[in-house]
Amino acid sequence: MLSIPTAIWEDMIAHARSLDPNECCGMLAGRADDNDVTKQYRITNILATLHETELARFDQAKLADLQQLSPEERADIAFQMDAHELSQAQKDMRHHGLTLKAFYHSHTFSPARPSNTDIKIAMEFESYRAILNLPQPLHVIISLEKKAHPVILAWRIHDSQATEVSVERR
Ligand SMILES: [Zn+2]
Repeated sequence: MLSIPTAIWEDMIAHARSLDPNECCGMLAGRADDNDVTKQYRITNILATLHETELARFDQAKLADLQQLSPEERADIAFQMDAHELSQAQKDMRHHGLTLKAFYHSHTFSPARPSNTDIKIAMEFESYRAILNLPQPLHVIISLEKKAHPVILAWRIHDSQATEVSVERR
């Protein structure tokens, strides 16, 4: 269960719309002892800017990783979070005594369900998370499949299985 304030809920939709047809991504944080999201971090999707002049910002190792993926995988992953912004957000959470509640990203043409690649990426994060002993984040997906009626769903991804978790707007 995840409870998201209206302002953050609306901002995730605005974020998704501003990057459509590219996907947006970000993080949601809150206190460890309840279900309330209290803070949102918009994170730059480096894939959304790959063909633009900002290309020079991204390190070569990261680009090499992307080039190793099969064409299907590349088409399926439509976001990759900027690593520097991600670590800045984690630092800010620690500073405010917050924990990572969820990652979010948008699907611009498909339902708000994790793709196979979303599940694969979540499982890669799981192995890293276990080492760092962090709480397990949920995965929130904003679907713009029906442009006028965005859908937001939350998922727990465990052992390569995605299970829907209730999400409320408060
Ligand atoms: Zn996805």
